[in-house]
Amino acid sequence: MKRSIIIIGAGFGGLSCAIRLASQGVQVTVLERQQQAGGKLQQIEKNGYHFDRGPSTITMPSSFRSVFEHAGVEMEDYVRLYELEPRTRNVFADGTVVDLSRDRQWMKEQIAVYSPEDALQYDAFMNESAALYAEANQHFLGKLLISPKEKYNLQMLRSLLRVRPTVKLDTLLRSYFKHPHTLAMIGRYATYVGSSPYQAPSIFAMMGHVEADVGIYGVEGGTYQLIAGMVKLAQEKGVQIVTGTQVRQIVVRNGQVVGVDTDQGFREADQVVANGDVLSVNRLLVEPKYRKQMTDARIAKYEPSISGFVTLAGVRRQYDALLHHTVFFPEQYEPEFKDIFHNRQMPTDPTIYICYSGYSEASRAPVGASNLFILVNAPYLSDAWNWDEQMDRYGEFVLDQLEARGITGLRQSDVLIRYTPKQIEQDTLAHQGSIYGISSNTVKQTFARPGNRSKDVRGLWYVGGTTHPGGGTPIVTLSGQLVGEQIASEMSGR
Ligand SMILES: Cc1cc2nc3c(=O)[nH]c(=O)nc-3n(C[C@H](O)[C@H](O)[C@H](O)COP(=O)(O)OP(=O)(O)OC[C@H]3O[C@@H](n4cnc5c(N)ncnc54)[C@H](O)[C@@H]3O)c2cc1C
Repeated sequence: MKRSIIIIGAGFGGLSCAIRLASQGVQVTVLERQQQAGGKLQQIEKNGYHFDRGPSTITMPSSFRSVFEHAGVEMEDYVRLYELEPRTRNVFADGTVVDLSRDRQWMKEQIAVYSPEDALQYDAFMNESAALYAEANQHFLGKLLISPKEKYNLQMLRSLLRVRPTVKLDTLLRSYFKHPHTLAMIGRYATYVGSSPYQAPSIFAMMGHVEADVGIYGVEGGTYQLIAGMVKLAQEKGVQIVTGTQVRQIVVRNGQVVGVDTDQGFREADQVVANGDVLSVNRLLVEPKYRKQMTDARIAKYEPSISGFVTLAGVRRQYDALLHHTVFFPEQYEPEFKDIFHNRQMPTDPTIYICYSGYSEASRAPVGASNLFILVNAPYLSDAWNWDEQMDRYGEFVLDQLEARGITGLRQSDVLIRYTPKQIEQDTLAHQGSIYGISSNTVKQTFARPGNRSKDVRGLWYVGGTTHPGGGTPIVTLSGQLVGEQIASEMSGR
């Protein structure tokens, strides 16, 4: 009889895992509680304005490409990416602008305007950034690390020592740069994994190379087309994707998964892959008597990543100051992370990011109008901040901040939609509304995330941001492929 796998969740992790398995002849069903696939990425269309609600900065295109290549098809027949150059506009409180570019000479010229010393260090930093990326790629990102042999060996130890795990990102950056603008511009990469530059390990300096050299990519027709392309391919490979179905329990017999209970009844499976957050999956779907390792006490010890407060604005005007990606930095960068991780409050002086995909593709908004996705980093959910009381007040504050930076007219928007961490939790069951799974603020949470194979229940696997290798769309897409490959190879006795 053909073996069957159930995947809980149709995010990037679940879909990439499904495609890898189905391409090797495994029978796969994906069960998704939302009405559409995509997980934290959803498409919103209103009054002729098109928005991607969720991830917008797409890096490491090879991790998406490999989903298609391993299935024996051309990615371009499903979804097309285009490289953005310049990559991101960084606007500082004193009016300084640095457009992040692959062109090193131009980068040095822009940095030299405010700090000739930092400009002189840029090449050396980018070389270290590239070396860190190569190290991570070779020893960490492309491996599952589920067996002790894979985890504890001399090569791994040497690699770990080379990336100096106890050195914080900000400390590494300060060994190259002096100026607050450069420190904030590059330190911000810690937020790509939902973390603080003042706590996360220096390995995330690799993002300098990833963004400037490997590139940031737009997706033709909007970021959601990446999901649409994967859904199409999965279905062609025979994957059954059932949306609007909530898994209520992972059913275990004698320590082994036997299926799942859903709001539509029981479904049998030989193995189950959970794409939902590892912490909420265990808390909500696995009975405590089967969780000797992932106990409630252990779950409570993990620190969730940052969340996000989103405003979607469809405005009948255009903004020359914006590129596809623009970041407005506050006067001081560090207080934002004290607010988020220590006080668990929204930042009093936030960094504000805007994705304006209409900059690259005019058809994303009506003629002469703009589709703005506005994101402010937010704390994970706790009693310290009540979104029911604060959403409108803070939302107005964000508009005030942008008005002061020259992004005017937002109050006359045709479309104005707000989306809070509480809604993120309600829609995707993200643990405490976190958007990158657990944070990478400690060595342990970066390099020893909960493993992809459950230690409690045989036949239960995890993909997505909380597990190895980590958060962010390219990385969770890697996790799905790694787990799919491992399951298929164990099934075939390889
Ligand atoms: C506002 C925002 C901005 C972001 N910006 C970026 C960015 O610019 N670049 C980037 O790379 N990343 C970004 N991210 C992070 C990125 O979205 C995530 O890392 C990635 O999408 C997570 O994918 P995933 O497959 O791990 O899980 P998810 O997308 O969370 O998918 C998990 C799915 O499982 C489903 N599920 C859970 N439990 C059950 C159940 N019991 N039954 C049925 N279904 C269930 C959920 O509904 C969900 O659809 C952003 C996220 C947000 C929210």
